[in-house]
Amino acid sequence: MKNVIEEYLCIDVRRFLGENLLVPGNFFTWQRMCGNESLDKVAVQVNAEALTLFYKKQTQSVMLVATPCHFGGYRYWFRCCCGKRVATLYAGDSRFACRRCLNLNYQTQHQERHERLAKKAHGTRDSLDWPRGFSNGTGPKPKGMHWRTFERLSVKAENAVEQCNIAARARFPNYDGFG
Ligand SMILES: [Zn+2]
Repeated sequence: MKNVIEEYLCIDVRRFLGENLLVPGNFFTWQRMCGNESLDKVAVQVNAEALTLFYKKQTQSVMLVATPCHFGGYRYWFRCCCGKRVATLYAGDSRFACRRCLNLNYQTQHQERHERLAKKAHGTRDSLDWPRGFSNGTGPKPKGMHWRTFERLSVKAENAVEQCNIAARARFPNYDGFG
């Protein structure tokens, strides 16, 4: 199973250039944010022909490669450890690498994610003997089930629907929920 690319800290040579960060001697921190919260970050030291990345107590050197453009000027790339020239590298467990090296997929995966979550939600509703459609809302406690089990599963079922809605909204911007 592939991982969702949007969930990884990513460095993009075009953004670095656009923000004028690739100046030798420059040192900056790059973060993946969720609202005001920093989810992951890397410190970047810019050298003449390479970047030094400080990530999770690891130090990694990434070569910068320039290729001439048709109409003058240069296009810049990172050199992944696999040898490929890429514009973006993603944070693996401890090292940055290209999306092929890390086996990452683009957002078509969101659909699979919301489908996976829907499956989970259905499974929980099944164990409660509730009808599958989310719009049916919560149901009664099945005969013979302990109240504590019932409460735990009810909460789980409601969380599953909520998570599913969040994933579906990320995939389909106009989506207004399963109710
Ligand atoms: Zn690679």
